[in-house]
Amino acid sequence: MSTHDLDLSAPPVLPSRGLRIIPLGGLGEIGRNMTVFEHKGKLLIIDCGVLFPEDNQPGINVILPDFSILRDRLQDIEAIVLTHGHEDHIGAVPYLLKERGDIPVIGAKLTLAFLAAKLQEHRLSQNFVEVKEGERRTVGVFDLEFIAVNHSIPDGLAIALRTEAGLLLHTGDFKMDQFPLDKRLTDLGAFARLAEEGVDLFLTDSTNAEVPGFTTAEKDIGPAIDTVFRTSPRRIIVSSFASHVHRIQQVIDAAVKHNRKVAFVGRSMVRNMGIATELGYLKVPKNLIVDMKALERMKDDKVVLICTGSQGEPMAALSRMANREHIIKIGEGDTVLLASSLIPGNENSIYRVINGLTRWGANVVHKGNAKVHVSGHASAGELAYCYNIVKPTNVMPVHGEWRHLKANAELAVQTGVEEDRVLIVEDGVVVDLIDGRASITGRVQADYVFVDGMTVGGASEAAMEDRRRLAEDGTITILGILNAKTGLLSEPVEFLARGFVHDDEWVRGATKVIDEAMKVANRVKTVNGAELEDLFTSSVSRWMQRKYRRSPLITSVVVDA
Ligand SMILES: [Zn+2]
Repeated sequence: MSTHDLDLSAPPVLPSRGLRIIPLGGLGEIGRNMTVFEHKGKLLIIDCGVLFPEDNQPGINVILPDFSILRDRLQDIEAIVLTHGHEDHIGAVPYLLKERGDIPVIGAKLTLAFLAAKLQEHRLSQNFVEVKEGERRTVGVFDLEFIAVNHSIPDGLAIALRTEAGLLLHTGDFKMDQFPLDKRLTDLGAFARLAEEGVDLFLTDSTNAEVPGFTTAEKDIGPAIDTVFRTSPRRIIVSSFASHVHRIQQVIDAAVKHNRKVAFVGRSMVRNMGIATELGYLKVPKNLIVDMKALERMKDDKVVLICTGSQGEPMAALSRMANREHIIKIGEGDTVLLASSLIPGNENSIYRVINGLTRWGANVVHKGNAKVHVSGHASAGELAYCYNIVKPTNVMPVHGEWRHLKANAELAVQTGVEEDRVLIVEDGVVVDLIDGRASITGRVQADYVFVDGMTVGGASEAAMEDRRRLAEDGTITILGILNAKTGLLSEPVEFLARGFVHDDEWVRGATKVIDEAMKVANRVKTVNGAELEDLFTSSVSRWMQRKYRRSPLITSVVVDA
């Protein structure tokens, strides 16, 4: 069952025996994961993350979930529960806390430590409740159980949520690595125990639902990392996500084995690895880590740099190295290891960085030419296993673009879940679990909220459209002076163009269009400046589109004289 073409309105009042599920992000996109649960008038939030912008959203830093439906109900929120510490699950928490600062935040140790660093940057105080896998805790009308899951960051948790409406299981992001570095397996025993009790609604990670088979173990990339260390004649520069503790652990282990010192580069990398080391998640021998100053004095074949920028982010260390804007000057014999995924949408930026580094003489090792990355998400095989263990009555795939949600839904049906109990739902579509049955009951506002520099929510989808048009077709400003007495222009209009090819021909044509528009307008009635501005903009836009197949952003300014 799909909601894409349903015409939905606001949901009805929820009966007190029901549980309402309101996804505000992560369904229809990879990122800004956030789901609101409502029961007996109270709210619980699982995850509150950001989405990173794409090329067609110029000037945007990050995209937040839409908090509109929470604004009148901030006092009803019992807690925010975090499944793990990735940006797309915790990044928007500071913005929600700015609306109500004392909401309790529940999560595992590393997740909360990463969030604490973020809250400090935003100068927000913290009201944290630290939990561990295996724990059970009541928060108002919600009964929570925390279950260990394995992912590309330590301390991932699945959440079992019990209410009078039944038992719900939310996996968060997870996979089923059977040989994880920290020996912390996804707790399938707990999943099976919940199945005995009866899972009424299963929300599960769809990211890799299209990928057949099983996700490879993290430790399987060890040999490829070792090869890099064995064969590199000079410096090694590793780029990875600043939260991938186990990936970085493998690099550190290789550095120890091959007798190289390590420097962390980039603000988030230095900060997160500091936290992970302090809390014991990253095991670093004494005297292994050096700072950049010390590293510069050392021989090139004795050092490793671990930096950010694996997604081609322009301001990150790796991009700056590729552009020769960093103190590390990449040269012949250096090896760059991109130990990371290639997030769709970032391909162009990443290949630009790889080309830049290669041009300076570096040997770039990446997932396209060596086995230096494995995914953090369960593939179709693991998901099928989970459905067979959990045996849910109702299913709602989460975390993914439409195609991922659809693939995950098909797996559920293949394992025997009734087709009309598998709900493919996008952001803002409301699902109610009542008397053991999940159904779609309405839709609420769940727009993109853009963070643009220091402004939150100021830029709209219309502003994005304007920016795209500026980039493609440029801008034209039409200036006119109106004689208020006669209702005629005092002199011919002027055109100022930026980014639009300026020649005399279109100026002559557009001037004619304006003259024509003035004639028509004056025949009907006397006009004022504001009316003329609208008239100029619309008639020149139409003419541009017809004559040049272009839609520059046109602004008209008419002053009365
Ligand atoms: Zn994640």
